[in-house]
Order: sequence, then C-alpha cells, then structure tokens
Amino acid sequence: MTESKKNTGYIAEIKSSLITIKGLENKIHVNDLIRVVQHNIIGQVIQIYSDRIVAQCFENTYNLRLHEKVESLNHPLSMELGPGLISNIFDGTQRPLKEMFKDFNSSGFVERGVDLTPLSRAKKWHFNPLKKVNEEVSGGDIIGIIPETALIEHRIMIPLEETGILSYIREEGEYTIEDEIYRLKRNNSEKSFNMIQYWPVTKSRPFFKRDVPKEPLITGIRVIDLLFPIAKGGTVAVPGGFGTGKTVIQQSLAKWCNADVIIFVGCGERGNEIADVLKQFSEIIDPKSGRPLLERIVLIANTSNMPVSAREASIFSGVTIAEYYRDMGYDVAVLADSTSRYAESLREISGLLEEMPAEEGFPAYLPSKLSSFYERAGAVKTFGKDKDGNEKFGSITIIGSVSPPSGDFSEPVTSTTKRFVQAFWALDANLAYSKHYPAINWLESYSNYHEFISNWWKERDINWPEIDINWDECRFKFNEILAKETELRNILQLIGEENLQEDQQLIIFIAKLIKEGFLIQNAFDSIDNYTNNEKLLGLTKIILLIYNFGKELLKQGFIMEDIKNLAVINDILRISTTVPNNAFETITGIKDKLLEEIESLKLIYGASKK
Ligand code: ADP
Repeated sequence: MTESKKNTGYIAEIKSSLITIKGLENKIHVNDLIRVVQHNIIGQVIQIYSDRIVAQCFENTYNLRLHEKVESLNHPLSMELGPGLISNIFDGTQRPLKEMFKDFNSSGFVERGVDLTPLSRAKKWHFNPLKKVNEEVSGGDIIGIIPETALIEHRIMIPLEETGILSYIREEGEYTIEDEIYRLKRNNSEKSFNMIQYWPVTKSRPFFKRDVPKEPLITGIRVIDLLFPIAKGGTVAVPGGFGTGKTVIQQSLAKWCNADVIIFVGCGERGNEIADVLKQFSEIIDPKSGRPLLERIVLIANTSNMPVSAREASIFSGVTIAEYYRDMGYDVAVLADSTSRYAESLREISGLLEEMPAEEGFPAYLPSKLSSFYERAGAVKTFGKDKDGNEKFGSITIIGSVSPPSGDFSEPVTSTTKRFVQAFWALDANLAYSKHYPAINWLESYSNYHEFISNWWKERDINWPEIDINWDECRFKFNEILAKETELRNILQLIGEENLQEDQQLIIFIAKLIKEGFLIQNAFDSIDNYTNNEKLLGLTKIILLIYNFGKELLKQGFIMEDIKNLAVINDILRISTTVPNNAFETITGIKDKLLEEIESLKLIYGASKK
C-alpha cells in the first residue's frame, strides 16, 4: 500500500503505553497494527468504539503528544518467516536485537522507533530447487532447500493458501530472501514468490490433521524421562519459586532435548540481560553435533524499555515461528521462561483499561489467553508433501515455566495453567534448599503421557533376564516405593527407623537409593548432565533388583544390615556421575556384581541365618 492510501487518525489521549486515537474507528480491525508517524512507534489495536480506538504501543510513549498523526498499517502483528530465523534473537515484535545492539549502542539499551527488518535483506542463501517447471504444487509443499545453519536445513514451502503449476523456478545458486525464487500459474494469472512468508501471531497456522503423540521428547533428565515424561507435541508447566531451578531446567532442555529446533522465549528479560543470554547460548556447544547450540535455536527476549504489551506478543511470536518449522516437518520445542511475566503484563494492561479484575487482579480472560497459547502445541500431519513427495509430520512441544509469588501453587497463573497442560513438574523450595536438584517434587508432579509413549520404550528395552519389567512398570514401581516411603516417614519420625519392621526399613532404604542414585542429577557435571535411555533403564532396573532381592532375603531371615552392607551399593550410587552414557557394559558389570554378592551372601551366611 502506498503512503497516500494509508488511513490516518490522531492521538486523542495517552495513558502509559495505551493511546486513544480518533479518526480510524471505521477503518480498522481489532489486532491491526498502527504507527505513530513522527516517532515511528508501533502499536496494536485492542479496543474499537464508535468514536475512537485504543491501541497498546510496543514501545515507550514518553514525549508523544496529543494530535500526533497515527496511521493504520492494515495488518495484524505478523512474523516474517524465512531463512535467517535460526541463530537469531528477536524481541516480541520480531525486531532483530543483535542488529540493534550492533548498530545503535552496546549497552543493551534499545533505541526507540528503530526500524529494522527482522531478517537480513543482504545475506545470500544457497538455494537448491527440488521441483521442476510444470509440476503441480499446493500449500505446504517443499520446493527447495537451503542450509540455514550446519544443523538445520530450511525447507522452502509454498505458502499455505497457494496452489498452482510451477511456471518458473530458480536454478541452484545464491539468492537473497527478496529475490524471486519461483512463479505459480493459476487460472491464467501468474504470481511471483520470494523466500519470505508472513503469518499473524494470534492465528495458529492450520495443519492437515492432529496426530496422537507417540514419541517421548527425551530430555536426558532422569526424573522427567522416567517418572514425568513428556511426549513430542505435549504441554508442560514448570512452576517454582525463586531459585528452585526453572532456568537451569529450561537451559538443560535447550541443550539436550531431542527436538530439532528450539524456540527460547525469555519473557520479561531486562535489556542488559539479553546480551548475556545471547552470549551464553553462543558459547554452549550442542553435545550431539559438536556445533554451537545457537545453530538450532531462535531466541525471543524482551528489553527493558519495551512496555508490557511487547511481552504479551513474545510468547505468541515464538509459537508462530515454531509452527513454521513444524510445517517443514520438524519437532520443535518452545521453552517459555516465564509465563508469569506474560500474565502480569495482561494484568497491567487490563488495569490501564480499567477492566473489572478477577482473582488477584488478573483479568477474567487470563484462562482463555493461556489456553490459546498452550493449545498451539501438538503433533500433527502438516499440509503439503516433503521433499520426497511423502506426507509430512511435525510437532510443537510447549514447556512453560511459571513463577508463583512465594512459591504458592494455588495462585491464579499456576492453577489456571494446570488446566491446560498434560504434565506438571512442581519445583519444591525444600528440595532446592537441601540441594536435591532437579527439585521436582515426586508427589505433586504428574504426567499424562506415559501411556502414549510406553510402546516406544518397550521397543528400546534393555531386556535383562533377571528383571523382566518394562519402562512403564519401572515407573510404576518407583512411584509406589516413593509414595510408601512418604507414608512411613510420618511413623519413622515418631518411633525411629530402627523400630520399623524390616520390610518397611527396606522401603526407606530403596527410596534413599532412588533419591540419591537416580533422582538427584547435577546439571553441571559432565557425565551426569545427560542420561541416555540405556543408562536410565539400567540404573532403574538395578535399584529394583536390589528391592526384589531385598524382599526375598528378608523372607529368608536376613536382616537389613546384610543388604545395606553389600559393597555394590556404593557403585550403584556412583553410576549417575561416573558411568558415561556410552559405557553400558559398566552398568551390566555392576548388575552382575550385585548378583554375585547376593549369591555369596546366601552361600556364606544363608544356612546360619535360617
Ligand atoms: P530459578 O530460575 O527458578 O530462579 P535457577 O534455575 O536460576 O532458579 O537455579 C538456581 C540455582 O540452583 C542455580 O544457580 C544452581 O546453582 C542450582 N541448580 C538448579 N538446578 C540444578 C541442577 N539440576 N543441578 C545443579 N544445580 C542446580
């Protein structure tokens, strides 16, 4: 649209980040963007009345004056999608923060009214066509690929709403995102396309069909992968007070989880922290590929001088970019830290609008806003075909941390989020205080995904003949032992451990092994930071073997001291930190040592104990 055709109005009232505009009320839609012309400040329409509209500005409104000219941009906040998203860092409205820091100042303070395109117009990308002229294509089909980073191949897709015959396609070569790449013919008209697509952030990208989640998102964090697993396409909330380990968990997931692409949304970050986050991520090496982790990450962060409205945009901007990579056929994880900051921004705007508050001042529409974020997760069959002409599947897993004030999980954001997620990793201040990390409370946490993924685990079982029990049964046993131990703890405090029955002492002992040898996991230890499937199953089954033998030995007249004094116990407690993931034979060796020690115990003392 040319300048002259843009609809304009003027500022009639300014209230913090909200501005009232007159003259546009009949020519604009809710969610459309507006621009305060002189200061180049962008805002979004949130209310329309018969004589005025109200817009929230994405930047500070200081110095704005009444009667300043405002124009309608005629489109809602949309993400610019194309090569160059990965490794980049954007704010909630997709301004490229790396560029802004480079061009404007290095203090981490972002200038107001800066106008930069989200993706570089100058950079050339190596395009490889996959289709030929005269082929029929439709929305979602992959027509070419670009190595976006060493880890991610960018798949150029026909926009979802398009279909036609390819009348032209570029040969292999170097092109910018604005260069024409192909043309489509339909009903005697021809349309030209470059690599860029736009998508409004509040509208989820459509897909062909929702798929049942079947595969786990493997995190390498033992307590999660066994007790509270998540499926690819699932939703998780991670609530926890200050210092309980939310950020460490999110960063471990970014580093280790087996999603192809990670979208990391830092809500409510301060400007000077962004440079740190960026630096941190660029220094981390992806453990699987040996390349910088940033080569599979898109970072979204807010800056100190952006008002709350930009925070509101950021989680939806993140999930829109996630949908774009999902449509290419990737498994994407969206890590949002923390959604409480988002909810607080809703509260602040709602307050400015003088809306009737609901619980603790949050607006009545908090649940619908949170659900519209989490419902964009899922495993799907996408529109279009992959590069070999087959169906495409992709997924978005959303993991949102929540920071309840003073760690109280009954507050509105935590309790509302709980309604929309299928897994809940409750971080416990007491566990964190006693240095039990990750501080995931095993009684308060849950996951509804285990039945979807149990077959996946069955196919990968380690099949030890001594303990014929699969992943799902292991999970059940661990939960049972931990729950029994909690009950016994109350009695134990009254009468002391030595006065418990021997079988009760066994539960206390096995629960201790589970906690110290399995649940506690040091994110900063080079061996313990990630546990692969084999090591997880091996460690779990060894602990359950001791439990089974323990019960048998006690029946035969042995006492708890005999079991506690097995030399192998110490080896088992050290598996997590001393046995690397590629040394499964060491774990088998420890299991064999356990069997031998039990045998000799029976041989030497068996007869006399009877
Ligand atoms: P939050 O984001 O909830 O405020 P952090 O993630 O910053 O908390 O964690 C606080 C501190 O707890 C970390 O700096 C670290 O020392 C410790 N910590 C948390 N999780 C782990 C872990 N898995 N392994 C080791 N230390 C941890």
